[in-house]
Amino acid sequence: MNAKELIQILEDTLYIRTSGTAEEACCANYIRDKVSEFGCKAELWPFAVSMAEIQTAELTVDGISVPCTGYFCAGNWDVEAPLYYLRHDDEFSLSQCKDKIVLLDTVVGYWKYQDLVKAGALGYITCNGTVYSDDNDIDQKEQRAFVHQGHRMPAVNIHVRDTIDIVRRNGKTAHIVLKQKEWEGESNNVILDIPGEVDEYIAFTAHYDTTHLSVGPYDNMSGCAGLLYLAEYFAKNPQHYSLRFIWCGSEERGLLGAKAYCAQEENIRNCIMNINLDMIGCLMGRFLSCVTAGERMSSYISCMSNELGFQNDVYLGVYSSDSTPFADKNIPAVSFARISPRTMSGYHDRYDDMYCMSGEQMVEDFEFVLAFAKRMASAKRCPFPREMPEEMRKKLDHYLGIKRSK
Ligand SMILES: [Zn+2]
Repeated sequence: MNAKELIQILEDTLYIRTSGTAEEACCANYIRDKVSEFGCKAELWPFAVSMAEIQTAELTVDGISVPCTGYFCAGNWDVEAPLYYLRHDDEFSLSQCKDKIVLLDTVVGYWKYQDLVKAGALGYITCNGTVYSDDNDIDQKEQRAFVHQGHRMPAVNIHVRDTIDIVRRNGKTAHIVLKQKEWEGESNNVILDIPGEVDEYIAFTAHYDTTHLSVGPYDNMSGCAGLLYLAEYFAKNPQHYSLRFIWCGSEERGLLGAKAYCAQEENIRNCIMNINLDMIGCLMGRFLSCVTAGERMSSYISCMSNELGFQNDVYLGVYSSDSTPFADKNIPAVSFARISPRTMSGYHDRYDDMYCMSGEQMVEDFEFVLAFAKRMASAKRCPFPREMPEEMRKKLDHYLGIKRSK
């Protein structure tokens, strides 16, 4: 696969493809067809995802209507309450949330949501965008099952400019009306197996779904093209270890494809390593390797990068991507990415476009990943143990909402 063909893959899939939609399924089929072009056969492995269609989402603050999107899967509500702007997350600030609708200038992740529930908040308002761009795009957010754990509340998302306006006019009372239809839908992981001499295998992952505002050549058709690049090579050059390529669905909603895959013990029993690609091959910015494993793996990648003269920022940590459910099962995992300055290519917004994508840079990045993958796939013994150091376990538990770390 050359630079031109890689760019073509990004061009072919320049559409919004959110989890559980026909467009996401269309992209899954596209990947399957691409795999068949080099003579292999990939399969779609479906899994269930919750779906919603918003019918009404309204926010008024002191009688003034504010454009908003309603949170998917947050249920149906008609609630009016005093408004409180939560600037800090210390105990006193949180205690002020009781029986209020809370305005936030940050995202509401797992632990922030638990804080809001514990504080007795009645609902919340988040925001996105920047004051420095012309668009008024408001992202479509979701109250994830993993986050609400059965305790749902009304929530809407607004543009940052309106957030500033509400704070400036000292908004007192908020009213949220939310109506939606909810049902169970389906998403797919696209799976390709390249058998080796042994059943133990390396799992390669990259997600192909996008968020609601993004056509996602960078996040993350780039990683999907990378997996196609690697699969084409290994299809002609089988190795000691078996290889499984997993184009994951529904990553943007909380790693749902990778979580569904890793939840099946028989899927991961023989998995010795995960190599994940998420946002790579852009023209600008630095290459990074986020290793979720022991120091042995980060040192190895670091040494190898030096040996090849490939600039690479290697660090130990938890990458917010499909590598994490594998690492949670104590499988040594690494995410490779090239992180463009946010002012040059966006993600999760309309600025994730072709402007900063580069076929040549994709080839260079994928060749590095291939060099690493070849060494691992042809190893007589996997050099990294299937275990997670204590410090990394703490980070994983925090990320996955299992145990909060300070
Ligand atoms: Zn991504």
